[in-house]
Amino acid sequence: MKAPLDVKAIKAEFPILGQEVHGHPLVYLDNAASSQKPRIVLEALVRYYERDHANVHRGIHELSTRATQAYEGARARVARFIGAGAVEEVVFVRGTTEGINLVASAWGPSNLGEGDEILLTVLEHHSNIVPWQLLAQRTGARLKSLDIDDHGRLRLEQLGDLLSERTRLVGVTHVSNALGTVNPVAEIVAAAKRVGATVVVDGAQAAPHLPIDVQALGCDFYAFSGHKMCGPTGIGVLWGRSELLEEMAPYQGGGEMIEIVELERSTYKRAPQKFEAGTPNVADAVGLAVAIDFLEGLGLERIQAHEHDLVSYALERGAQIPGFRDLGPVGDDRAGVLSFELGDIHPHDVAQILDSRGIAVRAGHHCNQPLMQRLGLGATTRASFYLYNDRDDVDALCEGLRAALDFLSGG
Ligand code: PMP
Repeated sequence: MKAPLDVKAIKAEFPILGQEVHGHPLVYLDNAASSQKPRIVLEALVRYYERDHANVHRGIHELSTRATQAYEGARARVARFIGAGAVEEVVFVRGTTEGINLVASAWGPSNLGEGDEILLTVLEHHSNIVPWQLLAQRTGARLKSLDIDDHGRLRLEQLGDLLSERTRLVGVTHVSNALGTVNPVAEIVAAAKRVGATVVVDGAQAAPHLPIDVQALGCDFYAFSGHKMCGPTGIGVLWGRSELLEEMAPYQGGGEMIEIVELERSTYKRAPQKFEAGTPNVADAVGLAVAIDFLEGLGLERIQAHEHDLVSYALERGAQIPGFRDLGPVGDDRAGVLSFELGDIHPHDVAQILDSRGIAVRAGHHCNQPLMQRLGLGATTRASFYLYNDRDDVDALCEGLRAALDFLSGG
């Protein structure tokens, strides 16, 4: 067994976490929405701008060379992090949303037609639903959806009926942002491949929390966001298999992505430059690479084990609170997300009382409206853990929930 994380030391690396909110020490439990940033990431951004910044891939001068090396170095760092077959398979985008939209726009129209099918799951975030709806409207393809059981696990036994040679694309989230379910992606990919479908994995809630190996998963595209994994906002990754990226049309046109431009036509660079029109987000790519160093330095397996311990502890403590009902699966396939109901108290009221005690959680549909409909709920309260949270934070959460019960049910 690997040594547990030294959470006190880790927390000290995050300047924002040292503050008080509403007169209480901040307890930040909204990590599924966005994580906080360690000092080394903040310093890397300042250092890049203070020493190395210029435009990339263009100028024949020292700063441009340094900026290009930093940017391409960040790409190589990401490639190692996810086990990519080649550095060229890593496309920098704004985040998961843009990565999935890129696939829908650039891969979709030439691979889908009238009557073809796109299979999603009821656990998907809106960013892995709406791009496919737009594509379906453009192409005449149809959307289908894999259901969950009462524990929030995908009903894999439905795959046989849902998948056919009409299925051109399967979109699945690696980890559910609403319930914390860790989906058996490799198994779903294997089933999709038997009917020749292409698989897009939404890794927004997985890349920050567990080791990723895109080749072992067997998928075709994998998207994730820097801001949820200790990196800056505005930078994310779309990984795609080289042969698919090379076949795809450009997503946007402009500088950086072309070979030769004539007034009537242009030729394009190969991937990944083909998909990175315009001046890229160099500084934040550099920040993301440092965030990856930070996470890997601690070890993704250790981070995953730590969060699993926290969620198990939270479930144990939560079970003692009247009216507490967790909505996710209980088992090894559970990430550090705790979505729950508290009697009939509205999640917004729960979140507001927690906020008054300095505890940040999220209340709402979590960009999962189809899932909420499936669960028969309008909203849930969600606490989501990361590497800087500890059992004291869970205790603070549970005390806050008891206070909410006392206050709102007049108990
Ligand atoms: N997918 C999942 C599962 C998410 O949790 C999120 C962020 N809430 C997204 C996609 C979208 O990520 P972003 O807003 O960074 O593009």
